Amino acid sequence: MTTDVRQIPLRIGGAWVDGERDPLRVVSPATGDTIAEAGQGTRHDVERAVDAAWEAQDRLEDMTAFERAQLAHRVADLLIERKEEIATSISLEQGKPYATGALAEVEVAAEMFRDAAESIKRLETSVIPSADRAKRIMTIRQPRGVYGIITPWNYPVAIPSEYLSAGLASGNAMVWKPSEWTPLSSWHLLRCFIDAEVPDGSLNLILGEPAEVGDEVAGNPGIVAIGLTGSTRTGQIVAQRAAGKPMLLELGGNGPTIIFDDADMDHAVRQSAFGSFENSGQICDSTERILAQYSVYEDVVGGLVEQAQQVRLGSPFEEETTMGPLTNEPTASKMDEHLLDATEKGARVVYGGARAEGLPTRLYYQPTVIEGVTSEMSFQTEETFGPVAPIAVFSDEEEALRIANAAPLGLAGSVFTRDMSRAMRVAERLETGVVNINETSAYWQPHTPFGGFTRKQSGVGRIGGRFTLEEMTQLKLITMDIVDRSS
Ligand code: NAD
Repeated sequence: MTTDVRQIPLRIGGAWVDGERDPLRVVSPATGDTIAEAGQGTRHDVERAVDAAWEAQDRLEDMTAFERAQLAHRVADLLIERKEEIATSISLEQGKPYATGALAEVEVAAEMFRDAAESIKRLETSVIPSADRAKRIMTIRQPRGVYGIITPWNYPVAIPSEYLSAGLASGNAMVWKPSEWTPLSSWHLLRCFIDAEVPDGSLNLILGEPAEVGDEVAGNPGIVAIGLTGSTRTGQIVAQRAAGKPMLLELGGNGPTIIFDDADMDHAVRQSAFGSFENSGQICDSTERILAQYSVYEDVVGGLVEQAQQVRLGSPFEEETTMGPLTNEPTASKMDEHLLDATEKGARVVYGGARAEGLPTRLYYQPTVIEGVTSEMSFQTEETFGPVAPIAVFSDEEEALRIANAAPLGLAGSVFTRDMSRAMRVAERLETGVVNINETSAYWQPHTPFGGFTRKQSGVGRIGGRFTLEEMTQLKLITMDIVDRSS
């Protein structure tokens, strides 16, 4: 496959702008080819984008929710019209399989714009009963103002769309800093905004160094609220820089999956394997830790090996491929490190366990199954973000919950059992913001409230459908005196 090298400028107001720094070469993890040169902005570029966004803010606020909804529907239409082209870019720069992953990602993104468009029209607020006969009390929702949006590379169109759809529908202008690994996908999404005739300055794209451009987006006083999806470490830095601003933080996870001995074993194993290997394990709600009850432990290990054998690792553009490369070297190195850490501490690799040979780059990683994982290993304490099913053993419900809840992260988890009372008990006690019963931890629908458990380090707030609209608007209380003072 030959690819053009796309030049990607920044977008400030209604203009394409070259970044003030030297452009960054973007290399495909799938082919090893250079596919783009991305402009690199500076703090000054962010400042200009903030000014442009505030100019657009007034225009957005002047529009009715119905008018903004129309724009969001137009963005959705364009995403669908261009889905093959956009999905090709996703597979090239992020690595997920075109047919089974990238196309679906664009469709989900379009659905997010449709959902935001329809939900904003129905975002009713309340009239509150008054303790005082002379007063009437109501609430309205208003845009917060210029948002800083910072997004990761693992779903480079869908994750930004969660914020951009809600931001547009609810009337917030945005300064967007996407991941440095996936600027091409960002450029496609931005072009849908331009061609949908969303007012200039409503969405500004600033590419560049995280420590400069990302830092300025977080800290700039003209940016009044933040939406970030990224790692826990980045979330902590951004939260400090943006102290005092409303923040929606969607951070890392290490999804515990608990398999009890009465579960439908075939189903539990298949779903866990899906959660471990889908998108090469690069999902915030991936199945990162599998806890199997003692009497079915061997069945779970054997079942996961069978599932791993069925994974077809290869080019994202081959139809039979079910798993593509990891997106970048830091992610692949983390897999190496976590595997080494676990094997040094006594765990045993039963399938895979290394980078694959004979493929165009060193980022293709074998689907890996590792057993005998214990609490002090990085697999239990950190997020891995790679194609691995680490299996640990437990004896009873209490122990399963103790192991699952010992981790500092708490985003999504799952439990497999036929005993519904137990399923409910575990769901209530699992310290994750999301629990799936008899379903992979990676199962999710975009309009549902997704986010981290408050006692853990997986984020703040809820994203998804109307919940994002609520996060990205402010509630105003209006009290009116109705006494007739004319006589
Ligand atoms: P990352 O934290 O490295 O980067 C995320 C974004 O933050 C990028 O745009 C990056 O440039 C920017 N950034 C990095 N350092 C910054 C700084 N100091 N100041 C401001 N911005 C900075 O994460 P990633 O590797 O791109 O993405 C993977 C991570 O995202 C994983 O931890 C994953 O779990 C998480 N994630 C969470 C969710 C969720 O919904 N909770 C969804 C997807 C991904």
